[in-house]
Amino acid sequence: HIQQKPPNVAIVPTPGMGHLIPLVEFAKRLVLHHDFSVTFIITTDGSPMKPQKTVLEALPDAISSIFLPAVSFDDLPEDTKIETRIGLTLTRSIPALRDSLKVLAESTRLVALVVDLFGTEAFDVAKEFGVLSYIFFPTTAMALLSVFYLPELDQKFSCEYRDLPEPVKLPGCVPVHGSDLIDPLQDRQNECYKIVLHCCKQYPLAAGIMVNSFMDLEPGAFKALMERGDGKPPVYPIGPLIKSGSDIVVDDSGAECLRWLDKQPHRSVLYVSFGSGGTLSPEQVNELALGLEMSRQRFLWVVRSPHEKAANATYFSVQSINDPFDFLPKGFLERTKEVGLVVPSWAPQVQVLSHGSTGGFLTHCGWNSTLESIVHGVPMIAWPLYAEQRMNAVLVADDLKVAARVKVNDEGLVGHKDIANYARGLMEGEEGKLFRSKMKELKDAAEKTLSLEGLSTKSLAEVTQLWKRHQK
Ligand code: UDP
Repeated sequence: HIQQKPPNVAIVPTPGMGHLIPLVEFAKRLVLHHDFSVTFIITTDGSPMKPQKTVLEALPDAISSIFLPAVSFDDLPEDTKIETRIGLTLTRSIPALRDSLKVLAESTRLVALVVDLFGTEAFDVAKEFGVLSYIFFPTTAMALLSVFYLPELDQKFSCEYRDLPEPVKLPGCVPVHGSDLIDPLQDRQNECYKIVLHCCKQYPLAAGIMVNSFMDLEPGAFKALMERGDGKPPVYPIGPLIKSGSDIVVDDSGAECLRWLDKQPHRSVLYVSFGSGGTLSPEQVNELALGLEMSRQRFLWVVRSPHEKAANATYFSVQSINDPFDFLPKGFLERTKEVGLVVPSWAPQVQVLSHGSTGGFLTHCGWNSTLESIVHGVPMIAWPLYAEQRMNAVLVADDLKVAARVKVNDEGLVGHKDIANYARGLMEGEEGKLFRSKMKELKDAAEKTLSLEGLSTKSLAEVTQLWKRHQK
């Protein structure tokens, strides 16, 4: 009886909207193009889940969701790093995950378990039920190379990577300075480093790794990944998978953004957003406001309450805690009301980027945001904050040359005059024109790789064939 059901895939995202979004697109492809059913198994630390639930509830019937009981972090010190908390959310959910997989294995034709970044701890459970373990890697091939390279780096150097005199040279990639490696590698004494190193060592245990990037974007890195020949799992470029505009629920404030954009001239607006979790310090919010004002460019700014210490203060919750408008310079809204729109916490980003009035994107370089900009051909100002964003900035600025990367001054700030220059350079300058024309090439390549005969389409089909043939 079960054999007649469509093959089912269980997907376990690590917490964070930025992780859920591409996996939802991935699930839709499995269901709509490859006749699978999908079960999302959602772990949580008890943070509000409304945005996640809204996204999951809007999906086709063949995609269902199970919400596991919240894990407790009461025992963790306050300064526990975000990656540690993300990793522990999964580790502490393993018993509940096992129960859910047992039920799925008994009631569906469960063939594969797909985890993302920090999900490798779940591989053992998958094995118990005779299910294949795959990783959906939600960022670049370059970052994946750094995952495979980390155990070697760890052995080779004893200093902090940011103190290395030479940049790290990953095969097929532009050089990366140690200080631009992912956040958890910036403090080797921290628990977080150990968790990430452990996780990286487990990556080779996956049956395959799907990467949300594409060959023409990172030919050197993909080639290096595919040519390793050292028993590592096969790597499949399957991106760019981004949120599709048609099924995004736009709320009132979102609709206001789009109406406002309708009234602006073609390609005249700089869209400014730091993703779902990004926060700036109060001083930096001030500089950014003054810089935008000074640039005399039109802008649409998604503003969050500033945070003194963390650059990712809203990671688990998305929403600002206080009214973000209270932190803007005095009179700013009034002075810029003819050219700017400031919205609190959230904008319908994909619609904004696909809108003809949008001409540039000041972004924190979260990988989803970066892909969304590429798919819509919008050149960028790269202002990385945390996670692997500095590495993404290296890729888009140094390698692809579709973005200018901001410089941080001695006070740890990006100053308002510099911000004004970046904004003018992108929207009106020669450099902006070059970025735009390079972006157009990437946009075309992205479209091609996802077409019927495109490489990313074929790679995903290859994986799904393996899953369909899988016998327990
Ligand atoms: N996003 C959005 N509106 C916002 C901020 C973010 O729709 O105001 C979406 C954005 O389109 C992207 C995701 O949230 O799909 C953010 O993912 P990304 O990887 O860029 O950054 P993260 O939030 O994970 O840091």
